[in-house]
Formats: sequence, C-alpha cells, structure tokens
Amino acid sequence: MADLASSLNDKQLAILKDAALDFALSHGLVVRPPPSADDAATFQGGVINAPVALFPTPFPINAFNNAVKIQPLYNQLVHDISQNDAFLKEIMESLSTVDDFVKRLYDLYVEVKREGIAQSASLGVHRSDYIIHLNQGQPFSDAEIKQVELNTISVSFGSLSSLTGDLHRYLQATTGYFSDKIDISALPSSDSIESIASGLASAHKHYGSKTAKVMMVVQPGERNAFDQRWIEYNLLNKHGVVLIRKTLAEIAEQGRLNPKTKALFIGDQEVSVAYYRSAYATTDYPTEKEWDGRLLAERSLAIKCPTIAYQLVGAKKVQQVLAAPGQLERFVKDLETVALLRASFTGLYPLDNSPEGLAAYEAALKNSDDLVMKPQREGGGNNIYGKDIQEALKTLTAEQRNAYILMDIIRPPITKNVLLRKGQLQQADVVSELGVYGIYLHDGHKVIRNDNGGHLLRTKGVESNEGGVAAGFAVIDSVLLV
Ligand code: ADP
Ligand code: MG
Ligand code: MG
Repeated sequence: MADLASSLNDKQLAILKDAALDFALSHGLVVRPPPSADDAATFQGGVINAPVALFPTPFPINAFNNAVKIQPLYNQLVHDISQNDAFLKEIMESLSTVDDFVKRLYDLYVEVKREGIAQSASLGVHRSDYIIHLNQGQPFSDAEIKQVELNTISVSFGSLSSLTGDLHRYLQATTGYFSDKIDISALPSSDSIESIASGLASAHKHYGSKTAKVMMVVQPGERNAFDQRWIEYNLLNKHGVVLIRKTLAEIAEQGRLNPKTKALFIGDQEVSVAYYRSAYATTDYPTEKEWDGRLLAERSLAIKCPTIAYQLVGAKKVQQVLAAPGQLERFVKDLETVALLRASFTGLYPLDNSPEGLAAYEAALKNSDDLVMKPQREGGGNNIYGKDIQEALKTLTAEQRNAYILMDIIRPPITKNVLLRKGQLQQADVVSELGVYGIYLHDGHKVIRNDNGGHLLRTKGVESNEGGVAAGFAVIDSVLLV
C-alpha cells in the first residue's frame, strides 16, 4: 500500500494542518484541554482539537466487513451470558477473593437480583475492539481481525470517530492530497452518533413515559464531553428526547425511587434510561456516596445501559474463559456462528490453579515477550507487557494471580502517519485498532434491536503499548478500505 503520509512536502502538510484544525474546531471534533495546560483551560469556553491522524489508515476490506458482520453475534452473546447466573457466579466469585472492585460490582449484582429486578429490559451500547493479524508472507488484504477486548460499558469516541471520518473525506475532497487514486467510497462513514442516540431513543420509547428523560451518568470534569454532547443533541433533534447529565454523587444526592413503581426521579425529573459514561473505573467511586448513587440507579425502573450484568460480562476474565475449549459452545448453538466468533479470538490463558493456568504461568516465567497480562480493569493504562510480566508474576501469590489473564500480543503491520495533537503535527510509525459499535435492546422476553452502530479507528505510535485516546496514547483515525 502506497504511503500517503510520506508523499507530501512541508507546504502541503501545512495546508492540511490548517484545514484540519479549522474543520475540527468548527465541527465539534474537540476536547477540553487538560487543566491549566494553556490559556484555554482557564475559562470554560476553551477547547482544543481532538487528537486525530491527518491521514486515514489503510485497512483490509475483508477484515473490516467481517468485524461489522460479527458484531450482532457479539451483542447477542453478551446478552445470553448475562442471563446465565451460574456462569457469572463461578467467574465473579473466584475473582472476588482477589479483586475488591470486581467484588463490589458483583455484590451489587447479587443484591439487586435478590431484591427483584425492577426493569426487565436492558440496553447495550457495546464496542468490540480488534487489531489485525498477518501471517508471515501473507498479503495485506488477507489480514484477519483478532479481538483485543469487548467493551460493554461507557464506550466512547463514537461521535468523534464519525467526525474524524468526515474530516478525512473533507480533506481528500478539497485537497486531493491523499491520492488521486482514492475513491471516496473507500472512506466509509460511521453513523455512531445517530445509532447510539437511536438506541437510547428506542429504550426511552420502550420505557413508555413521554415526560421522562434520558440520564447520562458522567464523570465530574469530563474532558471528552463533546463526544457525549453529540449524542445528546442528536437524541433531542431526531427523537425529541431530552438528556440530562448527572454524576454518581449527584444521583445519590438528588435521586429517589417511587416506593411503589421504583421509578427513578432526579429532583422532579423521571429517568427513563440510565446511560453510563462513567462507573467503570475504581476512580469513579472515590467515596461510598458514588456507590450509593450506583445502587439507587440499579434498583430503579430505569432501563440501564448497560445493566450491571452486561458490565460484568465485559470482564477480561469472561473473554478468557470463553476462549477455552467448549465454553463458547455453551452459549452459541449454531456451529457456523461459533466458528465465526472463534476465528476472531487470539490466544488467551488463565492464571488460576487449573492445569492450564499453571502451565501458562510457568511458560510466562520462561518467556513473556509476546504476552500481555491484564487485570479486570477498563479505561487504559492497566496492562503489563513483556518482561514486566515476569516481575509482576514473581510478586503475586498463586491466589492473587487469578485476578489477571494472559493474552498473546497481536502485532499488526506498521504504517506511517502524521498525528495532529494540540495543533502540532508529529510524524510517526503507527499501528491501529478498529472498534465496532453494537446496539442491542432486549425487553426481557425478546430482542427488540440488534444492530451495528458504526466504527472507530484508533492509531498510536508503535513504541506505545497502550492505545487509549483519553489516556493520551492514541489519536482518532478513520479507515481507508483497501
Ligand atoms: P482497556 O479495557 O483498558 O482498554 P485493553 O484490553 O483494550 O484494555 O488494552 C488496552 C490497550 O492495550 C489496547 O487498546 C491495545 O493498544 C493494547 N493491547 C491490549 N491487548 C493487546 C493484545 N493482545 N495485543 C496487542 N495490544 C494489546
Ligand atoms: Mg480497550
Ligand atoms: Mg476496555
């Protein structure tokens, strides 16, 4: 694949940069700057461009289509696992002895279930993330997707990803610099803003109150608020539904349940859907108040996106267990579907006391170069790589090891790009991670919606292990199908 980024001179790059910055600022492809990073941070009105790649990144069309095709299968799988109490119990109880955060979440699940679930419907806005894998000597077009993880709570960048695709199509249309050979149809648009808003609207409609509002559960001081605002605006403009923003602490302070119906009220506003863009990290619960807010929402009649059960299904341990022989087959009866899903798995290994877990432990102590070790955490920056794995394993007891899983490192082909961060260009050798969004609504008896929800491409320098955009490692990119 011709290298888009290297073929341009400095003057052309400067033109692209100016055009990209103006496009980003005028289309809400922005984030709040880190506190006190520059003058813009000193007043609320200051924003900076969201970190983006200047060029779309080549991505094999078959791999892309496959990721899109299997998303509804993953949506259904999440739901089916969430309904299997015994399966969740076995995994979560074993984690609970060594991971206080998982224990808290699982205890909440058990408590709410014991009290009786007020709302049988559930909404999923998921994102399955992949890196492409290429065998030695294989042509780029034959690359296959391998799943990094499946996110079931607070998936972000749906909106900024749609806008980054728009940015790349705009730059190509106005400058033609990417290549005169690129057909604009090779730059597929992503409709995540619309699809996530429409998922929320479907759940709101199912809830059945015209005066109720959708509640986005947010982190205080969210820098990525514009990614969220686009969903709010779309929900209002296209569906006539108002969205309010509340932190977990505010829910605890301002919320109450109708004693008869368990309807959730924030002040005098009834909540139809509790849509979490928070509540996934330990730092989201600095005090007991935040846990109180979460419990109140979980107990309520509001439709949760996600339910606590969906959140638990997103655990890395669940991903690892599913990859073990025969496990996926417990949930998926159709053999073709099993094969499709399994083909997207890479090597995943337990670190428990099973023979497989002990073998994986011994093997990692000998050679951990091609492994990543993951705890049950979300949001980036939590994994352990390469040689550090051996150090970490030596400090953990056999029981503590079980809080982690091991996974084969996926090494994608390296491309070149120019990254635009805080108005500055930076040439880099990069790798990319595709995310595919899924929208799923179940009423407790039957599936109401099971759809694709657009896609995201994140691109990072090869030297960085992690890929979080919010964590500062990666930029938002778009796919150039080849
Ligand atoms: P989180 O829930 O914190 O996002 P991930 O499993 O997605 O956890 O890991 C964070 C990042 O680490 C990924 O975005 C990716 O860049 C890198 N990573 C994780 N697993 C792998 C893997 N198996 N191969 C290569 N990179 C990986
Ligand atoms: Mg991730
Ligand atoms: Mg994650």
